Amino acid sequence: MGVLVLNAGYEPLHTVSVAHAIRMLVRDVAVVHETDGTDFGGLFPRPKVVRLVRYVVMKWRYSGPPRWSRRGVLQRDGHQCAYCGRRATTVDHVVPLSRGGERTSWLNTVAACGGTARSCNSRKADRTPAEAGLSLRFAPRVPSWDELHRPAWA
Ligand SMILES: [Zn+2]
Repeated sequence: MGVLVLNAGYEPLHTVSVAHAIRMLVRDVAVVHETDGTDFGGLFPRPKVVRLVRYVVMKWRYSGPPRWSRRGVLQRDGHQCAYCGRRATTVDHVVPLSRGGERTSWLNTVAACGGTARSCNSRKADRTPAEAGLSLRFAPRVPSWDELHRPAWA
C-alpha cells in the first residue's frame, strides 16, 4: 500500500512505499499528515499521507519550457562549440542582438568557444553565421527540464 505525498502547499504529488515515506520522515524531508492508526513499533505511526516540509515547485518545472540561462545553453550543448566543436565557455547569439536577435531565446543562442581572437565567438562578432563564414553543427532547440535539472529529492 502506497503513501500519498503532498506538497508543502497540500497538493498531492505522487505515492511512495511505506519504507520510502519513513525514510523521508527520518530525514526531516516530510512530516506525517495522516496515519492509518497502526502503531507498528517504530518512531512514527504508520503514515498514510505525508507532507513535504519544503515546497517543491512542480508547476513551472513541468509545464512550459525551462527558463533561458547562459548556463542552460552550455549544458544543453554539452559545453561544445556549435561552430567548431571545441570546448565552449561562452554563449553566442546566432542572430546578433544588434540585428534584432533575441537575447534570451533558446532558439537564438548556442554554446561557442571564446576568449581568444581566433575563437568562433570573436570571429563571428556582430555578424550572422553566414556572413562570418561559419555554419552551425546543430540547430539550437529548447532543452527539456530533465536535461537541465534533476530534483534533488528524487
Ligand atoms: Zn568554436
